[in-house]
Amino acid sequence: MAKPSLLPPRGERKPGERRSLTPQRPAFSIWYVLGLLLLLAVAQAVFLGTGGRSIPYSEFKALVRANQVTEVTVGDQTVAGKLKEPRGEGRQRSDAFMTTRIEDPKLVEDLEAHQVKYTGEVVSRWLPEILGWVIPLLLLVALWSFFFRRMGGAEGGVMSFGRSRAKIYADDDVKVSFADVAGVDEAEDELREIVEFLKNPKKYTVLGGHIPKGVLLVGPPGTGKTLLARAVAGEAKVPFFSLSGSEFVEMFVGVGAARVRDLFQQAEAKSPCIVFIDELDALGKARVQSPMGSHEEREQTLNQLLAEMDGFDSKKAVIIMGATNRPEVLDVALLRPGRFDRQVLVDKPDINGREAVLKIHVRTVKVSPEVDLRTIASRTVGFAGADLANLVNEAALLAARKDKTAVDMRDFDEAIDRLIAGLEKKRVMNETERRTVAYHESGHAIVASALPGLDPVHKISIVQRGFGALGYTMHLPLEDRYLRTRTDLQYQLAVLLGGRTAEEIALGEISTGAQNDLQRASDLARAMVTEWGMSDAVGAVSYAGESRGRFLEVGLAPERGHYAEHTAQLIDSEVKRILTEAHDLARTTLTARRAYLEVVTTRLLEREVMEGAELREILRAELPVPVAPEPDAPTA
Ligand code: ADP
Ligand code: MG
Ligand code: ZN
Repeated sequence: MAKPSLLPPRGERKPGERRSLTPQRPAFSIWYVLGLLLLLAVAQAVFLGTGGRSIPYSEFKALVRANQVTEVTVGDQTVAGKLKEPRGEGRQRSDAFMTTRIEDPKLVEDLEAHQVKYTGEVVSRWLPEILGWVIPLLLLVALWSFFFRRMGGAEGGVMSFGRSRAKIYADDDVKVSFADVAGVDEAEDELREIVEFLKNPKKYTVLGGHIPKGVLLVGPPGTGKTLLARAVAGEAKVPFFSLSGSEFVEMFVGVGAARVRDLFQQAEAKSPCIVFIDELDALGKARVQSPMGSHEEREQTLNQLLAEMDGFDSKKAVIIMGATNRPEVLDVALLRPGRFDRQVLVDKPDINGREAVLKIHVRTVKVSPEVDLRTIASRTVGFAGADLANLVNEAALLAARKDKTAVDMRDFDEAIDRLIAGLEKKRVMNETERRTVAYHESGHAIVASALPGLDPVHKISIVQRGFGALGYTMHLPLEDRYLRTRTDLQYQLAVLLGGRTAEEIALGEISTGAQNDLQRASDLARAMVTEWGMSDAVGAVSYAGESRGRFLEVGLAPERGHYAEHTAQLIDSEVKRILTEAHDLARTTLTARRAYLEVVTTRLLEREVMEGAELREILRAELPVPVAPEPDAPTA
C-alpha cells in the first residue's frame, strides 16, 4: 500500500538547513586527555622498568652470598642485577632480576666480599615532576572547554578560538523558487525586482544607478520569510549566504564581529549573491543602556554589521536581506537609508492565499479527489503558511495511521481541529471576535470614505497579524501634506473613533480592540489643544513640554509643559469635548450608512480583505437606507 510521502524528496534540503563545506574538525574532548595519560603511563613503564624477575630482598642477599650475582645497579628505590645463570621458567627465564631496596648498610660490604660489580644510579625524576603539573593543567583545559561548549560557545570550541574561520556559509544552488511560495503576492512582487537586478546587475548599474542594499522581510512567524529569501536566491540563481541573528550572540566578545567580517568578505568574492540574516531582532535590538550593563558582544556584532553595510560598494551586486517578526525592537540605525531601507511586509495569507499554500503542500501528498482545498482554507482563519504546511502533514499522518490509501476530508477536518486547539493558545480569533473586528474595520473605512478631504482607503483587512493588531484599514495619501487644517484633524479623529462607534451601533457593545485607536485619538486631540492652539477656550498658546522624548528613546515619559492646575483642567475638558464631538460625527456618519456597514462587514467576513476600489463601489451602490446629507464641520 502506498503511504503518503511525508519527507522531502531525497537530495533536497529543507529550507533553513545549511551546508558547511569544510569537513567537521574532530571535537576536542576529554577523551584526548585520557588517551594522553595512558600514553604517559606506558612511557613510564618503558623508561623506569628495567625489567627482570622481581625477587625478595632476602633472596637477593642469599644469591649474593652464594656467589650467584655478577653485577648490580643500586638505584634510589630498587636494586637491579644480573645472575651467573638464568633462572625461571619459559618466557620468565632470564638472568636479570630486580628487587626493592631496603636500608642495608652492609650491602656494599657484602658485594665487595663476593666480587660483585656494582654501580649507583641517578634516577631521572623529570617524568613524575612533569606529570605532576601537566595532568592537572590538561584536566582544567578539558573541563573549561567542555563547559564553554555547553554554554553555546563557538563551533569548534576553545581550540578554534582566534583561528581564522574558514567556514563557508553559502548555498550555491538553492532549489526553492517563487512557485514554492504562495499567499504573499505583494511581497513576491516587490522581491521580483531584486531578482531582476541580481540576474543582470550590469544593466542597472551601467547608468550609475544604485540598487537597494538591504531588504527587510517583516511579518509574523511562519509566514514564509525565510522561504522567500531562499526563493529570491533560487530564482536569480545566485549563491545564498545565510546566518541567523541568534548565531552571532556567542561567548567570546569579538567572535560575532569577526564572523560578520568573514561573511561579507566571502560574499563580496562571490557577487552577485544574497546575504541573508535571519532573526535579525536577536542581533539588532535597540542598543539601550541598561542598568545591568549592555550586551557587549551583541553590540559589537551589530556595529560590525552596520559598518559592513555602509562600507559595501553599492555597485557590487550583493543584496543583504534580513527577516524579523519583531520590527519594533530593531535598532533604528539598521533601518536608515543605505541599510535595511526597504521593508517588505510578509503577512498571514487571506483565504485565497491559504488555498494556494495548501495547493503547494498537497503536491507531495496523496489526497483523495473529493478533498476541497477551498473549504479547508475557509476553515483555517488565522493560519500562517507554516501552520498550513503542518496541517497537510498532520492530515497525512492521520490517514497513514488508519491505513488509508489517500488523505480524505475527514483527516483534514480532524487535523484542523487538533491544530486549532493548539493555536487557540496563540490567540486565534473565534467567530464572534472576527465579527467584532469586521464591524470595527468597516466603521473606520466607511467614515474615512464618507468625510471629505481624507486619504482614500487603500485596503481593509481582518486577517490577523502578528503585531497585536487584529485587523487594519490602510490609507494611502494622495499627496504629501505638510499642513492640516482643524477640520482635517476633526475628520481624522472621527475616522479613528469610527471603529469603536461601529461596534456600538451594530453590536451594542464595545470591545478592547479599540484601545490603540483611543490612544491615538487622545494624543491627537491633546496635541490640537496644547501644541497647535486649535481650541478657542484654551486659546492660541503652546503648552507643549520641552522634550517630548527623542525618537524611540525608551523609558522617558514626555515632559509636561509648564502650566497651572486650572489650565490643566481646561486642557482636559477641551480634549474631552473634541473627542466627544468626533465620536458624535462618527456616529451620525455611520448611522446614516447603516446598510452599507452591514454589506461591507459581510463581505469582509467572507473575503477577509477588501481593496479600496471595491469599497467605493459598494458605497456608490443604491441601498435601501437613505444616505443622510453630509454633516457640517463641527466647530471647536
Ligand atoms: P518564517 O521564516 O516566516 O518564520 P518559514 O519561511 O521558516 O517562515 O516557513 C516555514 C515553512 O512553512 C516553510 O518551509 C514552508 O514549508 C511553509 N510556509 C510558510 N509560509 C509559506 C508560504 N507563504 N507558502 C508556502 N509555504 C509556506
Ligand atoms: Mg524564519
Ligand atoms: Zn481600529
